[in-house]
Amino acid sequence: MRHRNPYRKIETNELVSLSIFSLKARGCLVLGNYNLLQWQQSYTGEQVKMVISTHFKAGHYWMLFSQGAAGIAVEHRVKLETTNCHFGGVRFWFQCPNYPNQLYCGRRGGVLYMRGDVLSCRKCLDLTYHSQTFNHRFWFYPKVYRVILGRKAKDLLRQIKRFTYAGKPTRKLRMVLAIQEKVLS
Ligand SMILES: [Zn+2]
Repeated sequence: MRHRNPYRKIETNELVSLSIFSLKARGCLVLGNYNLLQWQQSYTGEQVKMVISTHFKAGHYWMLFSQGAAGIAVEHRVKLETTNCHFGGVRFWFQCPNYPNQLYCGRRGGVLYMRGDVLSCRKCLDLTYHSQTFNHRFWFYPKVYRVILGRKAKDLLRQIKRFTYAGKPTRKLRMVLAIQEKVLS
């Protein structure tokens, strides 16, 4: 039996992750919509159930994540940022809500990870990407390749006729989300 290195870094796929891109595809950026999302974390098999909503308050967009039963509910408020897209419209980003060493992180990113009750960016949690071979190849690519990958995801997204099937994201949507996660985070 192989022993696990206790000092090894945690990989992104071991934690519950939230991608702003996939939340947008599920209608979570529509103001005032309360979306109940339920899925299974593939690594641990953990059932995740959350109510997610977006609000505009005090001049900012906020995304609210509520988890758990009444009384023991965990709630996260995440400030959102917007940037203008090249061809019009805006893109939403998370601001990391974590306070490492009592200082607000606020790092802009497309994906947040959940470790216990803490919701934060990959840097705060010192996570490493799961698929080493793919990601090494990917991260050593110049930025232009990331842009191309992003476009590929957009083209794929346009071709998708169904986002979910029997309550689960379709294979095509999962492909797009996987690319987007790499491009955005
Ligand atoms: Zn952070």
